[in-house]
Amino acid sequence: MARAVPLFSGSKGNSYYIGSATEGVLIDAGRSCKQIENAMLANGLDMSSIGAVFITHEHTDHCSALRVLAKRYGFKVYSSLGTLNALRAGNKIEANADADVITDEVVIGNMRVQRIDTPHDAAESCCYRVTAPDGKSALIATDMGVMLPNVRTAAEQSDFVVLESNHDINMLKNGIYPYPLKQRILSNRGHLSNEACAKELVNLVEKGTLRLMLGHLSEENNTVPLAMSTSVDLLTSNGMKYKSDYSLDVAPSVSTTKTIIF
Ligand SMILES: [Zn+2]
Ligand SMILES: [Zn+2]
Repeated sequence: MARAVPLFSGSKGNSYYIGSATEGVLIDAGRSCKQIENAMLANGLDMSSIGAVFITHEHTDHCSALRVLAKRYGFKVYSSLGTLNALRAGNKIEANADADVITDEVVIGNMRVQRIDTPHDAAESCCYRVTAPDGKSALIATDMGVMLPNVRTAAEQSDFVVLESNHDINMLKNGIYPYPLKQRILSNRGHLSNEACAKELVNLVEKGTLRLMLGHLSEENNTVPLAMSTSVDLLTSNGMKYKSDYSLDVAPSVSTTKTIIF
């Protein structure tokens, strides 16, 4: 059965395992190698199940474990060319690591991983859609200032979608972040707000993607209840019933037991 495990989510680190119980890929490697090992173990997954590691972009919360992880296990690393160059320039990956550029899609064992480009303030960011061995697919789409048509289409074609619900716009505007940082987050190359996420989820449920998860919540400018209610309220007002018409979860900042079977 296809499964997705959100090992870590948020500004302190992001990492998702997607595949089956014995064969999968890691999307991003934030936090530390030890923390990823512990989170895999806590979710009943063996490190030997990881066929490759895909990095969305070079921001620390997506690759801080990469250098040690790739060296310790010899994992193959994939990313866009811009991200790979940035990882190398930032010393976030060993010079002799087994790394390659994904331009469109690659096959890892019995799985397929597609690259979909995202608008974010990084060298060449993207997100990934993974088709598990049983044919079911999942998309992890975070770190993007706006929803572009290519990402929306990939989400509509997936069985399970993690979509960024980064901040409440009012909390961000009235919060303690310095003005330039607020502007960066709110820009088209920043992060998706609760409000923008909710609108996309209405479209996804209409199109038949019914397994949904909110990801990359800001610790400073969001709360789990607020992110959930923003999406659930808009879906409800569009006639879609929470838990009966669709499922919605929040990716925990640290997961010990959260496995989504899709
Ligand atoms: Zn991030
Ligand atoms: Zn980022």
